[in-house]
Amino acid sequence: MRPTVGENRETSNVDVTLVLTHDCNLGCSYCYTGAKFSKRMTPETAAKAVELAFSGGARETQLSFFGGEPLLAYEQLVRSATEARARASASGVGLKMSVTTNGTLLDAARARELDALGVYVALSIDGTREAHESGRPLMGGGSSFEQVARGLDVLVQRAVPFETISVVTPQNAHLVGETVEFLFAAGVPRVGLNPCYEAAFTDEELAGWERGLERAADVMIDWYRKGRIVSVTVFDNKILAAIKGGLAEGDKCSLGQTSVAVAPSGNLFPCERLVAEDDSPEYLMGHLDDWKPSVEDNCARGPVNAECEPCGERWRCGSFCACSNRAETGRTDLAGGTQCWHERTTARIADRIAETLWEERNEPFIAWFYGRMAGAAPSPGAAEPTQEATMEDAKQPAKEEAHVAPRGRANAIPRAPRAPVTSRKRLVVVT
Ligand code: SF4
Ligand code: SF4
Repeated sequence: MRPTVGENRETSNVDVTLVLTHDCNLGCSYCYTGAKFSKRMTPETAAKAVELAFSGGARETQLSFFGGEPLLAYEQLVRSATEARARASASGVGLKMSVTTNGTLLDAARARELDALGVYVALSIDGTREAHESGRPLMGGGSSFEQVARGLDVLVQRAVPFETISVVTPQNAHLVGETVEFLFAAGVPRVGLNPCYEAAFTDEELAGWERGLERAADVMIDWYRKGRIVSVTVFDNKILAAIKGGLAEGDKCSLGQTSVAVAPSGNLFPCERLVAEDDSPEYLMGHLDDWKPSVEDNCARGPVNAECEPCGERWRCGSFCACSNRAETGRTDLAGGTQCWHERTTARIADRIAETLWEERNEPFIAWFYGRMAGAAPSPGAAEPTQEATMEDAKQPAKEEAHVAPRGRANAIPRAPRAPVTSRKRLVVVT
């Protein structure tokens, strides 16, 4: 069957991720993409993948470049981005593009080229040298910090919206506060903190993580008080969801329905996090030449946990994420205890940030969060000009929560309804 994405669905956008190569020059301890082997997407496959992104008649499409390390296939990335840009111009379809890179192969010329093509960059750096070196070595060993920091500097110097992604592991969770402080001081506008749910965290490590998140919140508040808009995605998403009155179905990722990841072989998966070595039929949806349009049978959505139904945080909980669930529990529809803890903890701390800055009538805060809700730009002088596009253009695991629309609750910071904290060990399966 000829493939399409989003056809016959009430959607205004589709999302196609090109996994350009399985290869990588780093050897991160937590990497979910599997063994790094030399298999790249051919130009023919890449052309079909771009065609897929424009296949369903959607008004907007998102094309994302992923790996391995996608800049190892830089020429193909540029070729595909150029094709997509031309196609969007000719058809009038809105196009957003992004690349998730480890930054080691990024230089000023490439950054300029990506910028000219309109490719938003998300750079993976795990924070301070200590936090980064705890899990992101070069392939074969040795620190990657200097190379990644050079890539980061290139992005900061060009003053174009971008974001960083820091993976939070048991080894570096206690350094989350320092990480956020370090990245904001370096000029990063938006910091993503992505929990490594594959890992088992001890209670002590969770306590260190929580202290780190509290410190990150203090850092964020301080920057707002100095007039600079900064973003920590795990907090921003909770605040936006609270202002909006909760996450709607449309805010969640569309996992294999209007979004799809294309492996170098042309095989199709519901999400880039499920491609791995492209050697398992478990989540395989078909091939670019043979499309299976639904993943409902093999990629169930949740959460189905008994505690979730009456939970006071469900309205803005990220436990709908099939890939995070699978990482922690092995099931796409079953939330795990660490994720539950993280959702409740970040919600509580995000509320503190919002309540503090709202009570102070902090102008950058109001411009950023409420101006966006009302469709207005952040107020000049309070906001950094790059920030508005940063939120809108982001392609990262929590992106669905950033795409929120106003619901007329722009005159008070709502308090989240609170439920008693459930121990992360008490989550059970509903059968
Ligand atoms: S940089 Fe990315 S693809 Fe490469 S090893 Fe690290 S997590 Fe995996
Ligand atoms: S916070 Fe925990 S119990 Fe509540 S909805 Fe999320 S995963 Fe379920």
